[in-house]
Amino acid sequence: MTRKRIQKIVIAGGGTAGWMVAAGLSRTLGKTLDIKLVESDEIGTVGVGEATIPTLVTFHRLLEINEQEFMAATQGTFKLGIGFENWRGLNQNYIHSFGTTGKDHWTAGFQHFWLKGRERNLASDYGDYCVELKAAEQNRFAHLPRGGMNYAFHIDAGLYAKFLRRYSEGYGAKRIEGKIVNVLTHDDTGFIKAIRLDSGAEIEGDLFIDCTGFRALLIGQTLREPYEDWSHWLPCDSAVALQTESVGEAVPYTRSIARDAGWQWRIPLQHRVGNGMVYCSRYISDEQAKQTLLANVEGPVRTEARVIKFKPGQRRQTWLKNCVAVGLASGFIEPLESTSIHLIGRSIIRLLQMFPSEGVSQADIEEFNRQTVAEIEHIRDFIVLHYHVTDRQDTPFWNACRTMDIPASLRHRIELFRETGRVFRTTNELFAENSWVQVMLGQGITPKQYHQVADLMSDAELSRFLEGIKSQVESTVRQLPSHHAYVEQYCKAN
Ligand code: FAD
Repeated sequence: MTRKRIQKIVIAGGGTAGWMVAAGLSRTLGKTLDIKLVESDEIGTVGVGEATIPTLVTFHRLLEINEQEFMAATQGTFKLGIGFENWRGLNQNYIHSFGTTGKDHWTAGFQHFWLKGRERNLASDYGDYCVELKAAEQNRFAHLPRGGMNYAFHIDAGLYAKFLRRYSEGYGAKRIEGKIVNVLTHDDTGFIKAIRLDSGAEIEGDLFIDCTGFRALLIGQTLREPYEDWSHWLPCDSAVALQTESVGEAVPYTRSIARDAGWQWRIPLQHRVGNGMVYCSRYISDEQAKQTLLANVEGPVRTEARVIKFKPGQRRQTWLKNCVAVGLASGFIEPLESTSIHLIGRSIIRLLQMFPSEGVSQADIEEFNRQTVAEIEHIRDFIVLHYHVTDRQDTPFWNACRTMDIPASLRHRIELFRETGRVFRTTNELFAENSWVQVMLGQGITPKQYHQVADLMSDAELSRFLEGIKSQVESTVRQLPSHHAYVEQYCKAN
């Protein structure tokens, strides 16, 4: 392995991934690195990716990004979870919120107490014990002290890239406009030496970050790293997207509405709504998908419907030689739980933690790739869960999803919950117990038993315990302002 001190960083591509990488590297190590980002206005970006999860709040805190400036610049709104409509069955809805539900005991999660409460007719809906979920339902929001409100954002992806560009340039990153026409490698090692632009210019580097989106010019087209195809577990391979004018106030959650052969998203921003439909091309044509989407949007349409094709899956290695792929170049699961921007942030943090100052080492590469695979397989399982655990039998697509084979790791998790009500989160897994519980209950799994510790409470005690949490949730939510009013005031105060 060649050990060359890393000083020149070349980021190929300037979508959300490219500019998040530029922001992370320039803010953290910018003083000691030469960072160049190459992007092509003519090629443009994928133009979607506007719903996030709470880890973006953390990413921004690490970079000391001012949240009010960010919200104003990206026309952002707050997001408290995802509303799943028609996923379990037609007209059966639930919210996967970002909050905690109820209070856990160290031996057993809150769901065990709730399950007993349900059995004794002492408990109401699982969501009634969660501040974020009730706030989402009632269209309310405010920051609360001590992490009392766990939230993320809806953002305009184009504006976010511009915002991060200004930020990164402020820390010394340099942007180069141009189309990459060739990637040059060293004959002996196969390491990347430079990228050549249509102007003839060659941009040399020590470390290359491939953020060229689905094209994957460096990791895929040049280094030929294989792509693991997960379409046997994740049937959707296409999307159609368009924007509409806002009608009414933006709700603080993403809507995910199951359709006959996929699902539709609605992402409300301050100035417009992002809409799209993700679907499986084996069951519905692009034209039918477009028509379905157009028939199910609210408000005047502002953009052409655009079809995007993808293959759900992941590159086997996302760091190879002196190239690290971030964003769509590294893989794409599918947008159901808004995890792609999160994974960009994770790759950046991981790269910074393993930054190869003294040259690329195989040990770093292996550790980076090992952590990446573990993280992504966990997310993949969580997303497959939504498709597979359903009562829907009304279309061939849902029948195929319900009866498909699933990863063994997911089968185990479902069985464990069904038999015992238990869920365990292992180190570095993104989705905590409460996410799994909300989605498994929401999709229709009722555990056969609850933990014995719930029996230590008498019915009267259990009732007081549940009522206490519920009334606390209600009184907190009642005091919150409307989401719309809060966003307006928050952005104005910037
Ligand atoms: P891109 O945005 O495609 O950027 C690629 C960059 O490379 C561009 O700047 C382009 O100009 C440049 N480039 C490419 N080729 C060349 C060349 N030859 N020369 C020079 N420059 C070049 N993620 C979420 O977290 N939440 C969501 O809600 C979500 N929804 C999604 C919905 C759909 C339908 C899809 C497909 C994705 C969604 N994602 C979502 C994923 C998200 O869009 C991406 O993770 C994110 O936008 C990052 O994309 P990127 O920067 O990797 O690629």
